[in-house]
Amino acid sequence: MARVYNWQIGREMSYWYPEKRPKRQFAAVFDTNKCIACQTCTLACKTTWTSGKGQEYMLWNNVETKPYGFYPIAWDVNLLEKLGVQSWTGGRYTGRTIFEAAEAGERVLGWRPDEMDYSNPNVGEDDCLNGVGKGAHFTGEHQSWFFYLARMCNHCTYPACLSSCPRGAVYKRPEDGIVLIDQQRCRGYQECVKACPYKKTFYNPMTRTSEKCIACFPKIESGLQPQCFVNCIGKIRLAGWISKPEAARAESPIDFLVHVKKVALPLFPQFGLEPNVYYIPPVHVPREYLRQMFGPGVDAALEVYKSAPRDKDLAGLLTLFGSTERMIAKWKRAGEQVLGYDETGSEIVRIPLREPVHIRRAFDAARGVMRANVS
Ligand code: SF4
Ligand code: SF4
Repeated sequence: MARVYNWQIGREMSYWYPEKRPKRQFAAVFDTNKCIACQTCTLACKTTWTSGKGQEYMLWNNVETKPYGFYPIAWDVNLLEKLGVQSWTGGRYTGRTIFEAAEAGERVLGWRPDEMDYSNPNVGEDDCLNGVGKGAHFTGEHQSWFFYLARMCNHCTYPACLSSCPRGAVYKRPEDGIVLIDQQRCRGYQECVKACPYKKTFYNPMTRTSEKCIACFPKIESGLQPQCFVNCIGKIRLAGWISKPEAARAESPIDFLVHVKKVALPLFPQFGLEPNVYYIPPVHVPREYLRQMFGPGVDAALEVYKSAPRDKDLAGLLTLFGSTERMIAKWKRAGEQVLGYDETGSEIVRIPLREPVHIRRAFDAARGVMRANVS
């Protein structure tokens, strides 16, 4: 075991391989407040990559309703229970990561779902925590709540799938940090399926290999965002590149949201993988639940998010979500407009901070009636 630094837990930790960060790291921010669970992302991925034999229950992208939705069943609560107490002191995680809690002879604390655990991918959809009783009323955080959690592979900095593979078939690309499984090397031992705490590698019984999200790397290589991003109806997703905190650049959209504003947080940072998909937490969900899911930064993140109506930079960047198919390498706000640039510095998108309001005349004076379209 090597000692590596994981900035999301604020300390060094044990990992199977020495720290080796890619030249740049693919990353994403999802705004949970905007997801409507339309599953368009899921279908965009399914029709692009997983429509073949053996992939019937394979969803590289899925959207589940929290707290009762899971895919596969109980993927998170199972591991949270095995991991035991997960405590933080300030921004430092004082519990054990899944690498540190591995049982003797294992590289990672994991578990393997049964085949049936994948058979109800939309279980718990729209199920509320607590019923809505008589006299229920709005109190800020809701008494009865659910929210939608869109999930894909996190292309982790310290992937459990990679560290667990006895064949060395899982690799992290040095050029962009995307994690892939070499289908020639894979023998289908499913150690990665057992190890990934997010359950984002899948066994294909037809090919007898494991498969996973490839972050649409052919699109990334062409400067485009993945399919689940560009097809997102709620415009909740933004793809880009993330730096280490000490090298953060405010002109990078992901760095700005994660490091500068600290409004987007990793999913279960206590697992220790330094996942690279970040979430703006939902505003209406009790904080205790959110802290165990996104770590101790939740309260500050939500204060920042709620300040967006007064913060033109933050509001501006949030409006760039879903605004273009291209990868936005840099951004800036110029007055009432927000601009996005590609890696060469060429402008690729420009949108107003506020949509112009057009008031359509509704009273038809000639006929003395209200009409939907007076022209
Ligand atoms: S989310 Fe799972 S499959 Fe994806 S890189 Fe991390 S450990 Fe591997
Ligand atoms: S397409 Fe977007 S809004 Fe629809 S479920 Fe997926 S992430 Fe949510």
